[in-house]
Amino acid sequence: KQQKVQSEQIYETQCPYCSMQCKMQLIEQRIISRKKHKTVGKDNPTSQGRLCVKGMNAHQHALHHDRLKQPLKRINGEFEPITWEEAYQLIQENFEQIQKEDGKDALSVYGSASVTNEEAYLLGKFARVALETRHIDYNGRLCMASAATGANMTFGIDRGFTNTLQEVPHTRCIILAGTNIADCQPTIMPYFEKAKENGAYIIAIDPRETSTTNLADLHIKNIPGTDVAIANGVLKILIDLDLIDHAFIEQRTEDFAEVRAYIQSIKLDDVAKTAGVSLDELYQIALVFGREPSGMIFTARGIEQQINGTETVRSFLNLLLATGKIGKRNSGYGAITGQGNGQGAREHGQKADQLPGYRLIENLKDRQYIANVWGIEEKNLPRKGVSAYEMFEKIMAGEITSMFVMCSNPIVSNPNANLIKKALQKLKFLVVSDLFLSESAKLADLVLPATSYLEDEGTLTNVEGRVMLREANYPIQGEAKHDWQILCDIAQRLGKGKYFDFDQAEEIFEELRIASKGGKADYSGITYERLRQEQGILWPCPSEDHAGTNRLFEDSFAHENGKAKMAVIPYQSIDNKPTITQEYPLYLTTGRVMSHYLTGEQTRKSPSLAARDFEAFLEIHPQTAEKHGIEADSLVRVTSEKGWIIVRCRLSSTIRKDTVFVPFHWTEKQNVNRLVSDQLDPYCRMPGFKMSVVRLSPVN
Ligand code: SF4
Repeated sequence: KQQKVQSEQIYETQCPYCSMQCKMQLIEQRIISRKKHKTVGKDNPTSQGRLCVKGMNAHQHALHHDRLKQPLKRINGEFEPITWEEAYQLIQENFEQIQKEDGKDALSVYGSASVTNEEAYLLGKFARVALETRHIDYNGRLCMASAATGANMTFGIDRGFTNTLQEVPHTRCIILAGTNIADCQPTIMPYFEKAKENGAYIIAIDPRETSTTNLADLHIKNIPGTDVAIANGVLKILIDLDLIDHAFIEQRTEDFAEVRAYIQSIKLDDVAKTAGVSLDELYQIALVFGREPSGMIFTARGIEQQINGTETVRSFLNLLLATGKIGKRNSGYGAITGQGNGQGAREHGQKADQLPGYRLIENLKDRQYIANVWGIEEKNLPRKGVSAYEMFEKIMAGEITSMFVMCSNPIVSNPNANLIKKALQKLKFLVVSDLFLSESAKLADLVLPATSYLEDEGTLTNVEGRVMLREANYPIQGEAKHDWQILCDIAQRLGKGKYFDFDQAEEIFEELRIASKGGKADYSGITYERLRQEQGILWPCPSEDHAGTNRLFEDSFAHENGKAKMAVIPYQSIDNKPTITQEYPLYLTTGRVMSHYLTGEQTRKSPSLAARDFEAFLEIHPQTAEKHGIEADSLVRVTSEKGWIIVRCRLSSTIRKDTVFVPFHWTEKQNVNRLVSDQLDPYCRMPGFKMSVVRLSPVN
């Protein structure tokens, strides 16, 4: 029998889980003394009312009884609740003492791409102005860094998508390189399905078969980490068959002559052998992409999380430039961001080498501009720090002795996870602000309860580069505070309150607008009022009467001379590239499953999502399993040079026989990042998550 709904409240919000930032509503019904919740999609230009299973169940973590509701202090190995006043006192005493003993740069800040733009901006300012440390970086370094660096080097600017999603259904050829959008950003799929319906030819490059590769007309199942070889092979065929756009190359790009000279020196047979693909497949990609009048290339972590991730991205951008398929309607590039604010969080100064507006911390003009906005002297603005993983190396070396972690779980998300744990344990003082007692928070001296997406208003920038306002009116759980409030309060205690005098997120956004003005990611024309009316604006938007920029590079690229830079990217020699040996005879690649987000700290709290995938697994070809004495559904020990994990095996004849796959949403002995090495991309310092070498042994 249905019980009568006594009252109903609707809360407008936005999904916290991926870069689609689907608009949604939480419906809260009161039935007698019980509350019942349901999340439904809301129409908007990007997600068009769709939600995936993660979004539909997002409220389950936000309303979970395990949410942190008070600050917790570690006393004799146990956490005990304390007041905010006591927490702030503890932070002040420790931060001041540590900086006195170990120097200013002994403090470090570890941020997140799941926070709002306002919080990302304020965290960068907090590190440089309140703590006066150079050491700040964030988890986006592990996610989007190579796509961002590759795009900056090639185009002079990094906005994930050069075109809007609305153009995807009208393009004629799509290359999906290392992206599993069907599982990671499910509500984006209809754009690609529509493209296929309209006759587009879709090529997917991925060592595994996934729901995304199933959409493709051609699935290239290459050896992990060999994507540059594919891009170079395709470029060679395009040049040999004269399927390139000479006028575009001449007028809009530079360095093509060097690229052509190198490409002509490579042998297609070698390329095909390196990548583990056939010549026919390379020809098929080149013929379709070269002949069709329009085309788009999308990349994601599969090709980006490599120790040559930046170059890999650039090798695919070479294809767009050589064929003139960029800066035009229905032709362009998209880096498919993983984290909710993967785009915005990398624009406002959380990175070790950046200041707001995508300015550079080592550029004098940029330093002077931001110092002026912040009301400090340029000479007092700290210099460039080191990347996320390298901060942990500095902890091990004794140079960093304290860390403030905001909305992140670095033990689970970093490579060489065993070292990260040791580093956090070594700190004199670790503060973590989060929703839950995550694996990293469990090691903290002080844990601060933060607000969730339902409670924390602010802007986020979606996968396209569209700035969107997330309304958030749900009552705050317990004594939790917004991350930006926590930063303002701590700054106040450290005597820097005058620089952090904000009472609401919109006030921070107003300062962010000024800080971004004239920078590459210019938000200065965007206001909360406009966002409410227009449901999102694509940057750059340099004035309030500017509509935003739907398509980039129509007239020129963002380098000073207006040209895009092509690049010679050798595929053969990557220093220290992991190679299978007798001891480690299999490639390991990692990725996501549809029901979980990042380290799983939130999605594993959701009963509906946790039930769909409740443990990590090893995907392995049946013949490979047999060869290694592994039975279906049995537990397997997976060992690399860095560590071991134990996971259950799932047989799948759709994965390459030399490759196994483990998703990365689990902790402790199921944390696959314990196996991943700490080799970093030389340009962007992204770790090579997507290719390790391992051995397997049955667990009896
Ligand atoms: Fe949308 Fe991504 Fe949330 Fe799914 S996880 S509802 S695709 S924002």
